[in-house]
Amino acid sequence: MQALRSYVCGRWISGTGTAQTLLNPATEVPLATASSEGVDLAAALDYARNTGGPALRALGFAERGALLQGMADALQDARDELLALNMANGGNTRSDAKFDVDGAIATLLAYAELGQALGAGKFLVDGEGIQLGRSPRFHGQHFSVPRHGVAVHVNAFNFPAWGLAEKAAAALLAGMPVLSKPATATAMAAHRAMQVIAEAKVLPEGALQMLVGAPRDLPALLGAQDVLAFTGSGGTGERIRALPNIIRHSVRVNVEADSLNAAVLGPEVAPRGDMYELFLKEVVRDITQKAGQKCTAIRRILVPRALLAAVKEDLVEMLGATKVGDPADEESRMGPLATATQLKDVLSGMERLQTEGERIAGKPGRLSEKGFFVSPSLFLIEGGTVVHEHEVFGPVASILPYEDTPAAIVARGNGGLVCSIYSEDTAFIEEAVAGLAPWHGRIYLGHPKIELSPGPGTVLPQLVHGGPGRAGGGEELGGRRALSFYLQRVALEGSRPVIQGLGKGGVA
Ligand code: NAP
Repeated sequence: MQALRSYVCGRWISGTGTAQTLLNPATEVPLATASSEGVDLAAALDYARNTGGPALRALGFAERGALLQGMADALQDARDELLALNMANGGNTRSDAKFDVDGAIATLLAYAELGQALGAGKFLVDGEGIQLGRSPRFHGQHFSVPRHGVAVHVNAFNFPAWGLAEKAAAALLAGMPVLSKPATATAMAAHRAMQVIAEAKVLPEGALQMLVGAPRDLPALLGAQDVLAFTGSGGTGERIRALPNIIRHSVRVNVEADSLNAAVLGPEVAPRGDMYELFLKEVVRDITQKAGQKCTAIRRILVPRALLAAVKEDLVEMLGATKVGDPADEESRMGPLATATQLKDVLSGMERLQTEGERIAGKPGRLSEKGFFVSPSLFLIEGGTVVHEHEVFGPVASILPYEDTPAAIVARGNGGLVCSIYSEDTAFIEEAVAGLAPWHGRIYLGHPKIELSPGPGTVLPQLVHGGPGRAGGGEELGGRRALSFYLQRVALEGSRPVIQGLGKGGVA
């Protein structure tokens, strides 16, 4: 069995002590082990700060963008292997696995392109210069420079390749070195991605390291110039934020956490029309893709009461036709949950939903003795509290009929990553957007004329990803916006000719 290693201080290091066993979640066959014990975390952080950081800061944006292009090329060359690892270790169908791996490559390429567009400068000039006094001589200018610390990236189990790439792309382009920690249970694809990037020698020494296995006290070792981007459960995010060193040193922390994403069907939509069919297709895709283990997946389906009977009937039929099985079988359209813990959590989450509603699709309990399979499940809930408070991170969603104020119902989720609206009624959309926008990082307006619509579940590098409240209050991606987390904005005030003579290494 393969023992995964960590890549730190320019070397591959084997962990000691008791290792965690990584499984194939469809067969429960052990595939690999991982342990981070014995890895010198402080040395890895210092290697990033003292070796990777200076090397990245010596480059301009276009050169850093070229590094990302090199990473994308390396991953592209290993694409088939990465897809196979996601299928074996993540329970992904081939299509689910592409979502992760191709998403990783596309995000790196988008940030490589941004680097080219930003040009040769090494820092960002922020806005126009400002005259500060009566005389134009007294002048101010904001600009942003890379922080001198390390960017620690902690990722969730559901997107091993994309999680690595989307966070690293922004940090490396900004000029900060990265120590990435994939979730242990599904780390095989991330580990292989790190191997191919290291073998391709496309990055300066110390620019990208990977800790495989338990995080140990990694967040507790961070200081004032470091940043931590975390994706995972809200509970872990809370614990990290409360660490004394994080508070004392004002360590920047970005949290991407749980979300009870909603889809709202407009009251004017006609059953069997194009908008209605798009809505059904995207809801079913979100429930079944990656067995519902997507932070952006639709969990709450808001349907006007007049359309309830039709929607119920159609969704039940479509979900019932989904073939659940081992992703190694080409016929399977939905694989298992990723881990035994996931299975336990999803089963108990469904029981909680059942206490306040009716199960209208799927079977309770696990589907087979081996493998972490459950059926795509749908509940019908009138009123209810659990449905607005508890994220069941699996192929599970609930229909909530509404009379006239969907935004108020959606807001009970207390902050989400994305909300989708399926309507062509401008007045309805306007009112809904006004009500939903303060609670969300992204609003997706479904329309049947958008060719090959990716649906609300796909995170695009050009748009921000994150959300307020329950969703963690974080923000990633969004093109150039992503860089600001890794940059220190500074205001320079003084004599205009002196300041204007300085900004040569920057880009506006
Ligand atoms: P989790 O238990 O919080 O784990 C997430 C990551 O944090 C893993 O890499 C884990 O490492 C690490 N970790 C655990 N305890 C830690 C600690 N004390 N300090 C530092 N790192 C720590 O989350 P999960 O249950 O695996 O992930 C599912 C959740 O993630 C869902 O609720 C989902 O909504 C959320 N999610 C959110 C987004 C988003 O973008 N908003 C995306 C994907 C998932 P180990 O694996 O080694 O334990």
